[in-house]
Amino acid sequence: MRYALFGDIHANLEAFHAVLEHAQAQKCDAYACLGDIVGYGGSPVECLELVQKMKCPVVKGNHDEDSSQVGAARNTNPIARQAQEWTYERLSEEQHKWLQELRYVRQIDNFTIVHSSLDRPQHWNYITNKFDATACIAYQFTQLCFVGHSHVPQIYVKGQGVSSHNEYHVAIEPDKKYLINIGSVGQPRDGDWRASYAIYDSAEAIVNIYRLEYDIRTAQKKILDAGLPESLAHRLEQGS
Ligand code: ZN
Repeated sequence: MRYALFGDIHANLEAFHAVLEHAQAQKCDAYACLGDIVGYGGSPVECLELVQKMKCPVVKGNHDEDSSQVGAARNTNPIARQAQEWTYERLSEEQHKWLQELRYVRQIDNFTIVHSSLDRPQHWNYITNKFDATACIAYQFTQLCFVGHSHVPQIYVKGQGVSSHNEYHVAIEPDKKYLINIGSVGQPRDGDWRASYAIYDSAEAIVNIYRLEYDIRTAQKKILDAGLPESLAHRLEQGS
């Protein structure tokens, strides 16, 4: 199977389209979504409907949780909270319910997907170094685990110890475990504005992370036209 793994779409329809077109051209035959479908961007309804139509496994992100319940927008960052409240108003009751009922962790084939970390997934811990990765891998019962949340692609490998790699390609070796952050489709934060996602080829035992250009001007215009904070449009081109 060739799995396309994508997440942190953050209501950026233009970036999401670029990823899905690329995944089709790469002949992916299965898909999985790592959460944060909505929040920050100007196309929450369109992005959510697209994911729902795909009927693929999906796990819940913190923005999916906070944007789907009244008063749940407890994000202490006022800009994130404003976007979550705006998103809540746009989504239907069925969509709120659909997001609320998403699971935190799912197992597919020989891999696990979770938005933040397997170490208490509902606490939304970030994995930004080897110590965070080690805490996650302690709960990892499959050979591979894919995460998002930090919006920064990164590969952690557990052999004798845990090592961290910035490469976009990894060949899976039988006696090691892999914890892979696939980066963000709709709001990368590693200084590179291009959309990020991963393909896992289970027959070839390889994972590749891809970065794709997309129509960023349209995505920015939608944020500004919606009356969302201007900084949410500016950060897209800074990849921050
Ligand atoms: Zn996110």
